[in-house]
Order: sequence, then C-alpha cells, then structure tokens
Amino acid sequence: MYDYAFVTILLAVLALFLLYQNLLSAYKIKHLKKQFNDSEKSYRESLAEHQHLLSQLTDLRDDVQKNLLRDSVTELPARQIFENHLQQVLHESERYHLKFAVLFLNINRFKAINAALGFEVGDTLLKEIGHIVQRCIRKVDIVSRFYGNEFVFVVSQLNKPEAAAYIAKRILDELSKPFHIMNHELFITSNIGIAVFPQDGIEVKTLLKNADTALQQAKSRGPNIFDFYSSELYNLSRRELVLTSSLGSASIFQDFSLHYQPQMDVTDNSIVCMEALLRWQHPDFGLVAPGEFLRFAENSGKILDIGEWVLQTACKQFKAWQSQGFKLKNIAVNISFRQLESPHFSYKVSQLLHDVKMSPECLVLEVTETELLRQIDVIEKNLHMLKHAGVQIAIDDFGTSNMSLLYLSRLLVSQIKIDRTLVQEMMVNSSTDSIVKAVVALAKSLDLTLVAEGVETEKQKEHLLSLGCTLMQGYLFGAPQPATDYAKLKKALEKK
Ligand code: C2E
Ligand code: MG
Ligand code: MG
Repeated sequence: MYDYAFVTILLAVLALFLLYQNLLSAYKIKHLKKQFNDSEKSYRESLAEHQHLLSQLTDLRDDVQKNLLRDSVTELPARQIFENHLQQVLHESERYHLKFAVLFLNINRFKAINAALGFEVGDTLLKEIGHIVQRCIRKVDIVSRFYGNEFVFVVSQLNKPEAAAYIAKRILDELSKPFHIMNHELFITSNIGIAVFPQDGIEVKTLLKNADTALQQAKSRGPNIFDFYSSELYNLSRRELVLTSSLGSASIFQDFSLHYQPQMDVTDNSIVCMEALLRWQHPDFGLVAPGEFLRFAENSGKILDIGEWVLQTACKQFKAWQSQGFKLKNIAVNISFRQLESPHFSYKVSQLLHDVKMSPECLVLEVTETELLRQIDVIEKNLHMLKHAGVQIAIDDFGTSNMSLLYLSRLLVSQIKIDRTLVQEMMVNSSTDSIVKAVVALAKSLDLTLVAEGVETEKQKEHLLSLGCTLMQGYLFGAPQPATDYAKLKKALEKK
C-alpha cells in the first residue's frame, strides 16, 4: 500500500519535474527567439545603415574620380589620363615601329569671348570645340584640354606625317565655321602645332613641348594655320603642306585674283571670249600657279568655294566689260570635276546667272578632258542640266587623253579646245599634225566650236588658219592679264 503511494507520489513528482523542464525550455526558446528577433532587427538596421554609408562613399569616390579623370568643363579626359594614354601609344609605336603625332590646338582670342559674353558662353564653346576634335579623330585616339583654351590630341598609327596634316586641316576648317551658342553667333580662329614621333621626340614630355613650339610657329604665320615642329624634314612636301594649310584660311580670297586671256577670231582680229584664269599671290611663296594649288584645293574640298568665287568674279567682270561697250560674246571659266560632281552645281550656276543678269549662253564652262574622264557617269547629269540651262560646255586640253569620241555627243559639249602641246608639236611632228587635222574635221562634222590653245607664233597661226581653225588663244595674241578697262584693252590690241 505504502509502496503504491510512494510510486504514485514519485511519478507525480517526476511528471511535475518534466512539466517544469518543458515549461522552462519553452520559456528559454521564447526568450531566445525574442533575443534572435531583436538581434536580427538590429543587424538589419545596421546593415541598412552600412549600405547607406557605402553608397555615400561610392558617390564621393565617383565624384573624386570624375574630377580626376575628366575635365569638368569639357568632360574630356583629364591631363593625367591623356599623358598615360600618350605613354601607352608611345610604347606601342616603339614596339611596332609606328609613327604617331601629338597635336596642340589653340583657340585665339578666347579670353575676349569670355570677357565679352561671360563664362557660360565660353564654357559651352570649349565643350563644342572638344566635340568637334573628337569627331575628327579616330575613336582610339583621345583629346584633352590642357590649359584654358588649349587642347591636345594624338593621331596614332600614321602611315606618313602628312596624314596628321590632313586631320589638322580638317579641324581648322570645322572650327572656322560659325558657332551658335546661347543666341550668339561666334567666329573663332585657331592654330595647330604638330610634333611627330620619333623624329620630333621619343619621350612624352619632349613631344608635348615640341608640339607647343610648332603651335607658336603656326600662330606667328597667321590664323587658321598649322605647322610641324621640324618642318624641314618634310622639305619635299612642306610647300604642299603650307599651301594646303593656307587654303584653309577664311581670308584666302584676299590673295586670289583672276587674270583674263583673250580668245581671238583671227579672221577679223576680234576678241570673242575672255578666259578667266585663277592667280594666287601667296604671302610666303609669291605668285602660285593654278596647276600647283588646285590639286590641294580639290583634295580638301576647298575647290567648291574657290570655284564659286571664280564664277562670280568672272561673271561680274563680264557684265562690267559689257557695260563699258566691250562687245564680248563669251566669258570662259575653268571648272573642276569636283564642282561637276556636286549635286547642286547646275542650280548654283543658274542662280548666279540670274543674280548678275547674264544670259546663260554667254558663259562657257571649261572642263579638261582628263577631269571629264575621272567621273564621267556622275557628272553627266550635271552637264546635261547645264546644257539645258543654256550654258556652253567646252572640253579643255583636248587631245591629251584617250577620250572616246562617243562622249562628245553624249555629253552635249559645245566646244573643244585643242591642247597647246598639240599646237606646238604640229609644226615639227607630222603625226601630231595629222591629229590636229583630224580634230579640226571632227569639230566641223559635229558642229562644235573649235579653239586652238597656246598659239605662240605667226607660223602656228597661219597653219591653223589653213586647216580651217579660226578661233585661237595664246601668247601671240596676249598672255593672261589682270582685268583692265575695255578702253585700255582696246588700245593695247590696236598696237599689236
Ligand atoms: P587652261 O584652261 O588650259 O589654261 C591655259 C593655260 O595655258 C594657262 O595656264 C595659260 O596661262 C597658259 N597659256 C596660255 N597661252 C599660252 C601660250 O601661248 N603658251 C603657253 N606655254 N601657255 C599658255 P595657267 O593659268 O597656269 O592655268 C593652268 C590650268 O589651270 C588651266 O589650263 C586650267 O585647267 C586650270 N585653271 C586655271 N584657272 C582655273 C580655275 O579658276 N578653276 C579651275 N578649276 N581650273 C583653273
Ligand atoms: Mg581653260
Ligand atoms: Mg587648256
């Protein structure tokens, strides 16, 4: 009995103990859970705070880096980045035996723009200039602003130093166009100095210094000019470079003029036409012949502006002569295939003739045979439109290329001008004489006006006349001369 009671009590105590244990562990678990939740919450809170701090720190670092890596005004790579890049280009060029150029660009009178129009305009201008340079160089090359109005850039992997000159020229051309900033139209002038690796320096420091020296040389020669540091190394092409560079100058037309050479009808000794021939009085080289500089003008595209100026000047002179009583039938203007390629050329010519009130048939456009053959399919349309507008087309220097005779009718040509080499050779070379005879017969049968060029002697004149060629041009009748009043011209002719 006691045993039974004892066991029951023992069991009850055991049950109570177990219950206590359970309750204790439940409490502990609850407490632990609360502790866990609390620490999880505080962990999350500190994590968020940490992340916030981290993002603040990242922003700060980005700002610092941006200021170190980029110029704040132009957003171009900062000087240090540029110098590192230059160092890399130098290593690569050394390793693979390549040439590259460092170019310094200076914007003239920039301070005056800042002072007159304020920093906002000045800063926007600098930013635009940076964009222009970026557009003109390849993506692998970089440009940076070094000082207030000075930019520096690299042109890597050069085949020949002259390639850097073309880029410099292009940038100067682009920068000479007007800028439109905050309702202001701004015109700037600039200069570029070029130093080439390895001949102008084999270290970053030297190349930068020499490009700067080249810039000072260029500046001393006038606005919108570039120059090489050691220009004497490019003696062969220096003249070409200077001419190309000078052609970029906006004031170039001040140094241009037209000379006129008469075309005579030898049957009555009258002037039927005056041919306008371009002359360039270069500040360094004196008078430069068109045969030399037109090539560069064609390469750079400047020929379009020049051609327009020539056309305008010649047509105005024609009108002036007419008003002085000079009964001149035609004015002849030489044009380049680049003009004939340009889609609006015939429209521009018609517009000009309308503006100066000149009859289209008075204008003869001369295109050389060689130039015609360069892009015959492209220019054919323009030739037809010009013909349709009433303008006459002459093939200049005829007989110097193997032009298919079919083109003569296909291109709606009105005149052919026998090249002066044929005229000069015909007296001494019987096969050349046969060619001249054939050209005379050809012109007759196709009903084309025929002019013989480069007639220098009475014998040549008489021979051409005996073949039936009556229109002639050459030193025998008059060399190209600046435009003079008709009264003076008449007097000079009467003396002959
Ligand atoms: P071209 O149209 O055949 O002009 C005739 C060239 O021969 C001129 O040279 C002229 O000075 C020269 N000449 C004239 N008579 C004689 C002569 O009796 N004997 C000799 N030996 N030469 C004579 P220039 O002025 O140097 O012009 C050379 C070429 O340049 C022109 O040849 C023409 O193709 C081109 N040119 C001239 N002005 C212009 C222009 O405004 N625009 C374009 N696109 N080309 C032009
Ligand atoms: Mg000509
Ligand atoms: Mg000619």
